[in-house]
Amino acid sequence: MHGLPLTVVRVYWTMEAIRRLTPHTPPSPRMDAPAATRLQTPARWRAVLATRLLAWFREHARDLPWRNTPDLYAIWVSEIMLQQTQVVTVIPYFERFLARFPTVSALAAAKEEEVLRWWEGLGYYRRGRQLHAAAQVIVARHAGEFPTTFEEVVALPGIGRYTAGAILSIGRNARLPILEANTIRVLSRLLAYEGDVYSTAGQKLLWQFAEELLPNREVGHFNQALMELGALVCTPRAPACLECPLQKLCPTHQAGLTARIPAPKQKTRYEELTEAAVVVKDRGGKILVRRCQPGERWAGLWDFPRVAISSPGAEQPDPAVVAAVRKLTGLEVELGAHIATLKHGVTRFRITLHCYHARRRRGKVAAAQHDALRWIEASELHDLPLCTTGRKLSALIIAG
Ligand code: SF4
Repeated sequence: MHGLPLTVVRVYWTMEAIRRLTPHTPPSPRMDAPAATRLQTPARWRAVLATRLLAWFREHARDLPWRNTPDLYAIWVSEIMLQQTQVVTVIPYFERFLARFPTVSALAAAKEEEVLRWWEGLGYYRRGRQLHAAAQVIVARHAGEFPTTFEEVVALPGIGRYTAGAILSIGRNARLPILEANTIRVLSRLLAYEGDVYSTAGQKLLWQFAEELLPNREVGHFNQALMELGALVCTPRAPACLECPLQKLCPTHQAGLTARIPAPKQKTRYEELTEAAVVVKDRGGKILVRRCQPGERWAGLWDFPRVAISSPGAEQPDPAVVAAVRKLTGLEVELGAHIATLKHGVTRFRITLHCYHARRRRGKVAAAQHDALRWIEASELHDLPLCTTGRKLSALIIAG
C-alpha cells in the first residue's frame, strides 16, 4: 500500500475533496498522465491555501530574533543552528554568535577553535565547522558578501537544497521551495500521502508539491508559515486540526488519518558502548587534553583522553585502559580514583563513560603533537572548545 501508486490514489482523492470544498476549481488532473505531471493541484485551491496560511502566520508567527531581517548572513546562521535543534535552544546561541561574529568576514577571520567554542553545547559540530569553512569561501569568492543566487548558495559547504531555498526565500523572497521535517509533515497531510515520506518517490512528490504551492508574492512568509504551522499546529502527535487555518482543505483531517500520515519513521536501533575518559595530570598539576581528530566523534573539539573498554565495571578500572591510553597518547599513566560515570547519547550510540583520575608516569608529548595533545592549566579549560562530556567532566574536576 506504499509508494507512488497509492500517492496517485491519494492525490486523486485530494482533488475530489478539494472540488467539494472549493466550488470553482478546475477539473481534476488526468489520471493517465505521466507521474511527473499528475500533481497539479487546482489554482483556486492553492490560492485559498496561501491566503489562509499567510493570514494565520501574520497573526500567530512567533517573534524570533532571525525573523524580519534582510541579512542573509543572519538567516543563514539561524538556519544552520535550527537543523536538528529546537528553537528555544537556538535563540541564546544565535544571539551570542551574532554578537561575537556579526558579519561573514568576522566569522571567516576567526579560528575554527573559537567558532567551536561559541557553538559548544549545540551539538552536531560539523555544522559549526562547515559554517566557518563556508564563511571563508564567501570571503574568497564573493568578497565577503553572502551570494544571492541559488547555484552560488548551494555550492557552499554545509548548504543543501533546503537551506539554500530557505535563506533566499526568507531573505530575498526568491521563489524557491523548502522541505524539512515540519513541512514534510504538513505537506504529506495536505496530500494525504501514506507512503514513505523519506523514500525517493516520497521526496520527489513532496518537493514537487512544495514548489507548486508557492504563491507569487510573500514567498518567504509562505515558507516560514508552512514551517510554523508544522511546529505549532500540525504537530506529529495530536495535531490541533480544529485550530488549523487549512482544516477545510486538508484531506487527512477530513478522513481522520492524522495518526497514520505521515507514515512513522523506522525506529533507530541504538548501540550500547562503554568507554573510559582519564584526567591525566603531570607533576605540576597540568592536565592532558586531546583534540578529536577528523573522522572521530566531535572532530575539532577537545576532550580528555578517551578509550573504548569492554568491561562495564566502574570502580575497578579495566587494566586495558592503561594500554589503550598509551596507544592513544604515547604516555604511560597510572589510573587513580573513579570520578564519575556519565551516560550520554550520540547519534545511534548510547554511551556509558567511566571517568578516572590518572597520573603521568613517563613519556612526553612531542611539540609536533601540540595540535592533537596538550598539557594545560585547569583554568584554561574554560576557553577550550570541549565536547559535551568533556565539559561535564571539566566542571566536575574544577568543582572537585
Ligand atoms: S488540518 Fe490537521 S492535519 Fe491538516 S494541516 Fe491542519 S493540523 Fe495538519
